[in-house]
Amino acid sequence: MKDDTSQQSENIHGMVSGVCLPDDKTPEILSLRPEKFPDYVGQENIKETLEIAIEAAKKRDEPLDHVLFHGPPGLGKTTLAHIIANEMGGDLTVTSGPALEKGGDLMGLLTNLKEGDILFIDEIHRIRKAVEEFLYPAMEDFAVDFVFDKGAYARSIRHRLDRFTLVGATTRIGLLSGPLRDRFGIQRSLDFYSEENLMEISRRSAALLDITIDEDGAKELSRRSRGTPRIVNRLLKRVRDYAQVRADGVITKKIVEEALQYEEVDEKGLTSLDRRYLTTIIEFYNGGPVGIEAIAATLQEETDTLVDVVEPFLLKIGLIIRTSSGRKTTGTAYSHLGVKKHGQLFD
Ligand code: ADP
Repeated sequence: MKDDTSQQSENIHGMVSGVCLPDDKTPEILSLRPEKFPDYVGQENIKETLEIAIEAAKKRDEPLDHVLFHGPPGLGKTTLAHIIANEMGGDLTVTSGPALEKGGDLMGLLTNLKEGDILFIDEIHRIRKAVEEFLYPAMEDFAVDFVFDKGAYARSIRHRLDRFTLVGATTRIGLLSGPLRDRFGIQRSLDFYSEENLMEISRRSAALLDITIDEDGAKELSRRSRGTPRIVNRLLKRVRDYAQVRADGVITKKIVEEALQYEEVDEKGLTSLDRRYLTTIIEFYNGGPVGIEAIAATLQEETDTLVDVVEPFLLKIGLIIRTSSGRKTTGTAYSHLGVKKHGQLFD
């Protein structure tokens, strides 16, 4: 039987070898994934930093410094790891913090890396402490220490690794230990995308999926995608189905509006979970402030899902604020949901 690591880690030579992909990284999404910097829309600052660092590393014939990306899911962290591997001409090995159960799992991956290869660890904040400690010498000295026996008889043998680049991604930079964070030479935060950037992504993806989307259709889709490329691509596919079955195949504003009703995505791009989160604070806690654990318990949702997926965008568009005593909904949230401050519906 394959162990967890081999199931969840894929060794991608050049680009996609296509096995064992996590749910939201199906082959079709991967085919929409940009492979080179010119196709990667937005995040100009990050692209430029990486382009300079990659060119300099290549000139010096050295591996690229270790890179850490931080930001909400779906903003393009994994995609950047793919692009870095392509630009550096190395192979990409993909794994994630929770998949690395023992030090041995990580050792296996590290000892298979060749000069210039990229190891991508998603959700790196969820790596176990015991595994993390193997990373320190690997990142700093390109070496791993194998320890034999225990107690007074313990011996360790240092094994040299080929010089590789670690690319880490996290949705929660605050949960990374100081020593691990400090070992990344390049650290960048990805922010939500502008409407213009998302329109460009939707046009690019529509072309790849061979479907026509007009200007207003692209605008409407972008407005409803929570600033997130992965959501643009996901919704585009649902809208494509609708356009092909219920209309003439062309995606217009009207088609986007109709199709997204079935997805329960509203004009601001909020999903039913976003709205349930807001109404919980308003109805159960009188608008807050309320702690995240209480909201999660009332909603019967994982705290992590709320903190990683729901809250960043609601904070970004000003529907909630975070105070020292908890989360509060803003006046904009009340008017968006059509609720008066005292809990009465607008006429
Ligand atoms: P993350 O690792 O941050 O969760 P991904 O890199 O998996 O996000 O991105 C999700 C999908 O969104 C990708 O498959 C890709 O198709 C698309 N995508 C992400 N960033 C961009 C971008 N800057 N330009 C075009 N498409 C993008």
